[in-house]
Amino acid sequence: MGLTDIRDRVAKAEARAGRDPGSVQLIAVSKVQPLERVEAVLEQGHKLFGENKVQEARGKWPEFMERYEGVSVHLIGPLQTNKARQAMELFSAIHSVDRPKLANTLARLAQETGACPDLFIQVNTGEEEQKAGILPDDADAFIAECRGLDLPIKGLMCIPPVEETPSLHFALLGKIAERNGLEELSMGMSSDFEEAIALGATHVRVGSAIFGERDYG
Ligand SMILES: *Cc1c(COP(=O)(O)O)cnc(C)c1O
Repeated sequence: MGLTDIRDRVAKAEARAGRDPGSVQLIAVSKVQPLERVEAVLEQGHKLFGENKVQEARGKWPEFMERYEGVSVHLIGPLQTNKARQAMELFSAIHSVDRPKLANTLARLAQETGACPDLFIQVNTGEEEQKAGILPDDADAFIAECRGLDLPIKGLMCIPPVEETPSLHFALLGKIAERNGLEELSMGMSSDFEEAIALGATHVRVGSAIFGERDYG
């Protein structure tokens, strides 16, 4: 547990998978965590963080970004179109592009502002009704649609169903990425990031294993 330990485990998983050192980006997922814990990780020199809500992120990151140089934050949770503009201003990547309406809004704003964060398309690999993400069968067409809008699609993201073996979902995501020529894979959390790295993750999203359990109370 803790940043040093997780960094070490990421490095070992990279080595086991024959991947280059540093080829996996560790996103420290700071949602809901007390600011002191986030600050402690910033003090250790970590620069890449993940948040799942636009409002929550806007409440803490502008100030941290002023105090700590070179910090970037990725949005890893669902994005409503009416918050797209704010999200594009704050985040350097959005991992949750999951529907045409959002893609169209992002494209319009990107044209208007001349800038766009890196984008990942979220795939609902478990075809779960309550979960965001494009269905696997619709992924190829949606990726093509996003490319047609000139969006900077870098890769794919998934959150496997809790009850299932994550590696099946990681492998499926990898296949969809490969046949579409996408290089980046955002997959793996506290409980399964090493398996994700073995299956090609380029971004792992680790929260509780770095910061401790989240207290939603
Ligand atoms: C909260 C969250 C994580 C981190 O979860 P942990 O189990 O705490 O590592 C990763 N990805 C997404 C999309 C999340 O919402």
